Amino acid sequence: MAMRPPHFDWSIHYRCPNDCPYCWYHAVRPTLEPANFYPGAETVLAAWRRIREKYGECELSITGGEPFSYPGFIPLCAELTRLHRVFIATAQCAGIPELASLSEKGKLEISASFHPESVALETFAEGAWKAAASGVLKRVWLVGWPPFLERLSSYNAEFSRRGIEMKVYPFWGNWAGREYPAAYTQAQRELIAPYLGAREGQNMQLVPKKTAGLPCRAGQLHAVIHPDGNAFRCGGENYRRQQAPFGNIFSPDFALLDGPAPCRADVCPHNEWAFLLA
Ligand code: SF4
Ligand code: SF4
Repeated sequence: MAMRPPHFDWSIHYRCPNDCPYCWYHAVRPTLEPANFYPGAETVLAAWRRIREKYGECELSITGGEPFSYPGFIPLCAELTRLHRVFIATAQCAGIPELASLSEKGKLEISASFHPESVALETFAEGAWKAAASGVLKRVWLVGWPPFLERLSSYNAEFSRRGIEMKVYPFWGNWAGREYPAAYTQAQRELIAPYLGAREGQNMQLVPKKTAGLPCRAGQLHAVIHPDGNAFRCGGENYRRQQAPFGNIFSPDFALLDGPAPCRADVCPHNEWAFLLA
């Protein structure tokens, strides 16, 4: 079986104009500001160029924070599409047409996240519809935060009448004293089911998957990159339990791991297991 190209999940920075109550960073956002790192486009491009020279064209998923709030993001990202296949998760659709016009054709894909506490549905859907005309916006995502679940079908109706697919990520975290996604009721699971997202063909988990100790190619075929360039095996290992980085992409001798290693997390919330378990 041919080895797939390495995949990187890059939290480009932690800043975001929104402050969603279900955000991974909601409780710790003020403490994250010192961890933002803006070394300049040339340094950033040099790091991803070295990775291209070492591993060929990779899959580079850019998340945040809000990627479009990163200084000089549009020209930087357009250059990155000449090195790697780039996927972006953003809550801001306004910059998408310009980025699409500057990027390498066929190398950019964008998912737009709808955050109902930050923007009106119609406003967001209209922006997504305009962005979709650029051909790079593939779908809209929504977090399955319990207060949203009764409204999923009306959200979906608004997007689908504009020809846009809506998918739902299960919520991971505490709401009203209960730990999700394990706390979803059967009725809530049924509300999510028609829109449940998938990764690598595997549905996102509504019941946490236990992965501790299983051999996994996280770190070999996949890495999570923090704004300062530190590389971790995966998001799962960093979920509530900080692990040491195995390298830093700004270091000239950065390298991925040579092979699989046991999972050090209890559960794998980002569904990375779907393409990484050995
Ligand atoms: S838009 Fe995304 S990054 Fe920003 S606060 Fe909301 S969930 Fe977090
Ligand atoms: S199973 Fe998931 S959490 Fe565990 S090492 Fe692999 S990717 Fe990370």
